[in-house]
Amino acid sequence: MEHIKYSIIIPVYNEEEVIETTYERLSNVMHSTKEKYELLFVNDGSQDKTVEILKEISLRDSSIKLIDFSRNFGHQIAITAGMDYAKGEAVVVIDADLQDPPELILDMIDKWKQGYEVVYAKRTKRKGETFFKKQTAAMFYRTLRSMTDIDIPIDTGDFRLIDRKVCEQMKGLQEKNRFVRGLVSWVGFRQTAVEYERDERAAGETKYPLKKMLKLSLDGITSFSYKPLKLATYAGSLFSGAGFVYMLYVLYLKFFTESTVTGWASLVIIQLFFSGVVLILLGVIGEYIGRIYDESKGRPLYIVRDIYSAETSVKKEKQ
Ligand code: UDP
Ligand code: MG
Repeated sequence: MEHIKYSIIIPVYNEEEVIETTYERLSNVMHSTKEKYELLFVNDGSQDKTVEILKEISLRDSSIKLIDFSRNFGHQIAITAGMDYAKGEAVVVIDADLQDPPELILDMIDKWKQGYEVVYAKRTKRKGETFFKKQTAAMFYRTLRSMTDIDIPIDTGDFRLIDRKVCEQMKGLQEKNRFVRGLVSWVGFRQTAVEYERDERAAGETKYPLKKMLKLSLDGITSFSYKPLKLATYAGSLFSGAGFVYMLYVLYLKFFTESTVTGWASLVIIQLFFSGVVLILLGVIGEYIGRIYDESKGRPLYIVRDIYSAETSVKKEKQ
């Protein structure tokens, strides 16, 4: 069997409107490299026609492989599965919606040939996304950066090329609530960026509603930083310091002046405020404990229903 040079991982979730175009643009680009490649589609439990379309394509194109999950496990897990199955010397992760231009892969390959082991694509502009999404994303990347000691590049998604060596290391990281781009930074190696303007989605709607975005950002922060846990210590010291000063003032009023200390309103306000602070901090601890619990269960990261490729369909015909 011929050696595979490039593996392209494409996580897909309900992408029936774009998947055909994505396939064509990707195979055109990869064809121009004149090397052997595989397009590894990971179907993350789509409920639409995505799988049928991909199965059909896999019958006529032997460079396609389709890994079909038993349900929706999430974008980050789909990428992880892709890395587990990829055989290429260089592995590229790209979104299915053509927001990441496939043509940029050629630039990434150039950098890889110069000796870089990770080439990530940095967004200089994001087109066709809501003001809210751009602002929250920009804020998130900067907060994350300020909270961790690892050099996680800002404004960079999962669109990147990694060398086989890096891919092997990634396969060894089995944590459940994954933030893949952080893990790639964590493993190290020679990293560099190529810049690009992020296009609009070619068709369909975002598969990242606010809930999934929030989960991803919490995974990012909790996987790479303990700082939120220290908040309790800082807040506790600050407020008890302030409380002590106020206590001295109240005692002074009580014993050395005639005025009586009244204050139903202030008591209620203080009570509400501090119960709020305490509950929030308990929630922060809960986030970490929940993740420890996830790790301890030892469940597999994902479940594959079936794998489709030219090889498997030949086997099935023989049976
Ligand atoms: N995706 C996935 N599983 C999910 C959500 C998304 O595999 O649960 C895929 C989706 O098909 C796309 C990529 O992840 O290829 C990025 O999703 P999307 O473009 O909707 O995110 P956005 O660009 O809006 O942040
Ligand atoms: Mg997108």
